[in-house]
Amino acid sequence: MNKTAFKTNNMKIQNYINGEFVNPIQDDWLENYNPAIGEVYGQTPNSSIEDVEKAYQAAATAFLSWRQTTVVERSEILIKIANLILDKIHLLAAAESKDNGKPIGLATEIDIPRAAANFQFFANAITQFSSEAHESIGMHAVNFTLRQPLGVVGCISPWNLPLYLFTWKIAPAIAAGNCVVAKPSEITPMTAFLLGDICNEAGLPKGVLNIVHGLGNTTGKAIVSHPNIKAISFTGGTETGAQIARIAAPMFKKLSLELGGKNPNIIFQDCNYEKMMAATVRSSFTNQGQICLCGSRILVEKTIYAQFKNDFVQRVSDLIVGNPSAENINIGALVSKAHLEKVKFYIDIAADEGGVILFGGNKVVVEGSEHGYYLQPTVIEVADNKCKLNQEEIFGPVVTIMPFNSDAEALHLANESRYGLSATLWTNNLNRTLQFSKELQTGIVWVNSWMLRDLRTPFGGQKDSGVGREGGFEALRFFTEPKNICIQYE
Ligand code: NDP
Repeated sequence: MNKTAFKTNNMKIQNYINGEFVNPIQDDWLENYNPAIGEVYGQTPNSSIEDVEKAYQAAATAFLSWRQTTVVERSEILIKIANLILDKIHLLAAAESKDNGKPIGLATEIDIPRAAANFQFFANAITQFSSEAHESIGMHAVNFTLRQPLGVVGCISPWNLPLYLFTWKIAPAIAAGNCVVAKPSEITPMTAFLLGDICNEAGLPKGVLNIVHGLGNTTGKAIVSHPNIKAISFTGGTETGAQIARIAAPMFKKLSLELGGKNPNIIFQDCNYEKMMAATVRSSFTNQGQICLCGSRILVEKTIYAQFKNDFVQRVSDLIVGNPSAENINIGALVSKAHLEKVKFYIDIAADEGGVILFGGNKVVVEGSEHGYYLQPTVIEVADNKCKLNQEEIFGPVVTIMPFNSDAEALHLANESRYGLSATLWTNNLNRTLQFSKELQTGIVWVNSWMLRDLRTPFGGQKDSGVGREGGFEALRFFTEPKNICIQYE
């Protein structure tokens, strides 16, 4: 890889269209920040409708031959991409950490390996993907289902897990025979840019993947509005998801929307306390709390509430906030100044909302990185589940805690939310486990664990957390059109 420019301070990211790196047609650029030091370190294209059209044309042309490739050919290319990502893990992790502010250790252990795993998984899944056949006895007919690629599809991803979520969409789309016009978040474009080189090196044919950088409201909107882009796979905020649905629904596009969360972490006295405590620290603050699956509402059984409060605050106070390139830190920088201010806003209204800050609440000045976007991990005790801190997605290193008295109350509090992405349950009671598994209004329930991911499972949310499921064959179903063929015999 010749793009070591993320080590420099004037990196110019380019669009990746038809296998080539190109400037935006209107020569319009955005600034790219390093959140650890709060300084611009490069430029990103602010792509226009014309750039999206160019990417679409490249994808449409490539589709004519890509749809004819065998699953084995596609699978082999995907595996090469996965292996190249692993070969370049340190380069990519450094780029991700610099672009996003996440600890380099996290990028090396989680983000980049998972990006490789996404390609590896769908390289294998596509060779096992099959469709149904129905013998229609009495009609003298056999029905079978053809699953064909959709054509050109759009993939739009957020800034919190940049390469991880970008590839989670692209890998199944191209494995299923589609060609892609993709847009990473303009806030974290670097690793998507580096992926272009990897795709070329792996022999992905020109035009199968096209990456256009730019703002959501212009570049993203142009992808969503394009009349011939057949499906949109989007991960991001709930309000953005609603805007996308308003444009895409009347055009009858297929939509997969993975949106926000405000996930309950429900803790009962009968759990494995030590295991729960370690996992709760992780589920609260990993990636600066900027994961849609973070357990931001901690609900604790009254009988252990005082002990939990004490122990949790103690553990949180041990976390080290620092420059994300340092190996020994737990919490890096928030992704942008605007996001830091948004998170701080919720801390500042805590008292008005009836909350008590038990730990944190302040910005942190890191020596040598004084202008970076750092915040203490923050724990707020709340009394009313209807307060803004418990109902709105903060998406930062801020959790609330509150007690409950009974199973019924815990379930009520957990479900009293517009969101329904995931829930975590800590208990060793089998009946309670099954009861909560059935009654929790979320797409995912982790019992005595958090963020254990098997890529075969359906991933997504209920309520305002989204529509549709990704992962496993669900993603391959989304990226294909089922066609029923009915053959009558004599
Ligand atoms: P946004 O919704 O702001 O943006 C997501 C992506 O959509 C970005 O690439 C953005 O571009 C683009 N975009 C913005 N507006 C439009 C538009 N009108 N049309 C098309 N594209 C648009 O989310 P964030 O990047 O701030 O990410 C954080 C959110 O993502 C949180 O709510 C979080 O919960 C959610 N999320 C959900 C996950 C899930 O699986 N359910 C996983 C991870 C995050 P740009 O950046 O340039 O604005």
